[in-house]
Amino acid sequence: MDYTKWTRLLEKIVTPDGKVDYHRLAERRAELDSVIAEFAASSPQSDPDAFASDEERLAYWLNAYNAFTLNAIIAEYPITSVWKTRDGAFFQRRRHRAGAQAVSLDDIEHEILRGKFHEPRIHFAINCGSVGCPPMRPAAFEASGLRDTLWAATERFLRNEWNCRIDRENRRIHVSRIFKMYAEDFAGAEATAGNYRRGVLDFIARHLGLERDSIDGYEVVYNIYDWGLNDSAREPHLGPILFHEPVEHYSAADSELRELHLYEGNFCNRTCDWCTISGSPGGWYRPYSHAILEQAVATLAADGNLKFYGGEPTLHAEAIIDAIRFLRARGFTGLVTVYSNGIKADRLIAILESDPRVEAVLNYSIYHGRDAEPLPRHAKEKLDRWSAAHPGRIFKGYKVLFHAGAGARHDFDRDREGDYHGMGTGCVRCFPVLTTKGRFHACPFAAEIDSPHYDLGKVGTDPATVLRNYRTFRRWIDDTLDPAARARGITSCELCHTRLQELPTPGFEK
Ligand code: SF4
Ligand code: SF4
Repeated sequence: MDYTKWTRLLEKIVTPDGKVDYHRLAERRAELDSVIAEFAASSPQSDPDAFASDEERLAYWLNAYNAFTLNAIIAEYPITSVWKTRDGAFFQRRRHRAGAQAVSLDDIEHEILRGKFHEPRIHFAINCGSVGCPPMRPAAFEASGLRDTLWAATERFLRNEWNCRIDRENRRIHVSRIFKMYAEDFAGAEATAGNYRRGVLDFIARHLGLERDSIDGYEVVYNIYDWGLNDSAREPHLGPILFHEPVEHYSAADSELRELHLYEGNFCNRTCDWCTISGSPGGWYRPYSHAILEQAVATLAADGNLKFYGGEPTLHAEAIIDAIRFLRARGFTGLVTVYSNGIKADRLIAILESDPRVEAVLNYSIYHGRDAEPLPRHAKEKLDRWSAAHPGRIFKGYKVLFHAGAGARHDFDRDREGDYHGMGTGCVRCFPVLTTKGRFHACPFAAEIDSPHYDLGKVGTDPATVLRNYRTFRRWIDDTLDPAARARGITSCELCHTRLQELPTPGFEK
C-alpha cells in the first residue's frame, strides 16, 4: 500500500509537538477523503496478497486507525473531546470502511491490533484524538523499519515527563494511564496484578535504557488521562478536579485482593434520588472497629487500594482519620480513596491532609449540579483551590447513573446511561466491600441488599476463602447475572435491585 497521500496530509496538519491543526485539516477535507477512500479500497483482509508480511499488515492498521480517527473528529468539529461527539459512541460505531469490512475504532484497536499483533508499542503509535495520547506522527507508518519506528515512538512518549516521571526519593514511577488501561499488554504470560506492575517496570527500563535493578520494587502510580481534544488551537485543559479512574485490576490468578471497599452505612446529609445505596439522613451508621480494620488489612494486598464510602464519610471525618492511622500502623502502604459529596469541604481536606496517600473522589452529579442540588459554592471553591495546589488528590466520579438502589427503576437521559458511553448494560464488576456490620459483601452498589447472592464471608473468615468466594461471584456474573439481565432486556444492576430472587445463588464456601 502506498501511503504517500497520507504522509503529505500529515505533514501539513501535524504540529511539531504532535498536535493536530484541525482548521487546516478542515480546509483539506478532500485530501482526507481521498486517503480514506484508499483505506476503503483495500485492506489486509480483503486483499491479503498486497499485505504479505506482518509489518505490512500492522502498518496498514496503525495508519487506518489514525486516519479514521481524524475523519470521525472532523465530521463533528468543533468538539472539545472525543467523548463529546453526537452519538457518544466514538469508539464503538462501525462507521469506517477498511476493504470489504465496516469497522469501529474499538474493533481495530482491540480485536486487530491488540488481538493479532501482540506488540505493546502500538499504544505509542495510535492516536485517538486526545491530549493524553502519544503525539501524532507527522508521517505514515511504513512497513519497512516499522519495529524501529515503534521503538522510537515509545521512547519519545516516555521521555515526556507527563508520561513517565521517576521519583527516586519516594521510589515511585508516575506513568501515563495507558499503562493501566492496557496493563495486560505489558505483562508476561501470567496475568496477575504483580506481574502487570513488573511488566510496566521492565518495559520502561528497556525503552529508557535504565538498569532494571535501579527501579526494582518501585511503586507504579498512574497519571490521569487528558481526554481533551489534541487540537493545536487550544491549550490542554485540565480542570483542577479531574475524572477518576480506578488503579487496580482484577485477575483471577491473583493470590490477594487488590482492592476493597469499606462501608460505614448509608447515613448521609443528602437524599439523592438515584443513590445506589439509598443514602439519606435517616440512614444507618456504624463506626469502624479495630476488628473490622484488622480484617481489612488481612484481606487486602498491603499495597492495594482501600476505598472508604457510605453514606457520607466526612460526617465522621475524625473516625476516618483514625482508621487510616490504624491501617498504616498495621502495615497498609497502599492508596486510600474516600468517596464524598464534598459538602463538608473542610473535613474532606482534613482527611486528605492527614495522609499523603489519600485521594478523594467527588460525586459527579453533585459537583456539577446535574440531576442533583449542586455543591454549595463556597465548598466547591475550597475544593477547587485545594486541588489546584495538590494535583492528583481530588477527582470526580463518572457521569453515568446506574439502575441501582434508589435509581433502580428510573429512566435516565441517554447521556447518563452506561450503554451510551460504551460501558454496555452489564455488571460494572466492582471489587467487594467489608461493611462495619462485619460482613463481606460482593458489590458496593448492592451493599444495602442483604442476600446470600453477595455473602462472601464475615469478620473472622479466612482471607483466602473471601478471595475464592469473590472469584466465584465474578464467574456468576459472567455465567448467570449478565446473561439473565440481557434475556430480560434490563441492565444487570436493575436485575440485582429488582428481581434478584429469580437467580440462583453463586454457591459460596462457608
Ligand atoms: S449519592 Fe452520595 S450524597 Fe447522594 S444520597 Fe447517596 S451517599 Fe448521599
Ligand atoms: S450488576 Fe449487581 S453486582 Fe454488578 S454492579 Fe450492579 S448491583 Fe453490583
